[in-house]
Amino acid sequence: MSWQYRCSKCGSVVNPGGMVTLVAINGGAQMLVGFHPEPGNYELYKPPGAEFEQGETWDFFCPVCHTNLKAENNESLCELIQVEDGVRKRLYFSRIAGERATFVVRDDNELEIHGDHSGRYDETVQWKKP
Ligand SMILES: [Zn+2]
Repeated sequence: MSWQYRCSKCGSVVNPGGMVTLVAINGGAQMLVGFHPEPGNYELYKPPGAEFEQGETWDFFCPVCHTNLKAENNESLCELIQVEDGVRKRLYFSRIAGERATFVVRDDNELEIHGDHSGRYDETVQWKKP
C-alpha cells in the first residue's frame, strides 16, 4: 500500500520521502513535524527536544505555499489530499495534540474512520457513515 499526500491548495506533494512533513506552529513554537503516512498510525516525528502538550491546538501549514491546512468544515481538523493507489481522497486529521481522530473521504462520500477519539466528531462530521 502506498500513499501520496498533497496540499489541498497548491497540490504540492508533502510526503516525497514517505512521511508527511508539515510546518507546525503553536504560539511562539514553530517546527517541521513528520506524520506516518498510514491513516490511523499516530507515530509523530518531532525535532529533538520538541514537546507537544496534550490538548494543545496546533496550526499546520503546507511547507511549499504556507497555506494553513485547517479544514473549512471543522476547524479542529486539518485537510490534505490523499492519493491511495491512484484514487484521490480527502484526509482530515485532528489539530489537537494527543487526539487520535482521522477521516478519509472519497468523492462519493465513502468514509474511513481511524483513531480512538474519532467519536468526538460524530456531531460535526457531516460525511455519510458506512
Ligand atoms: Zn501548498
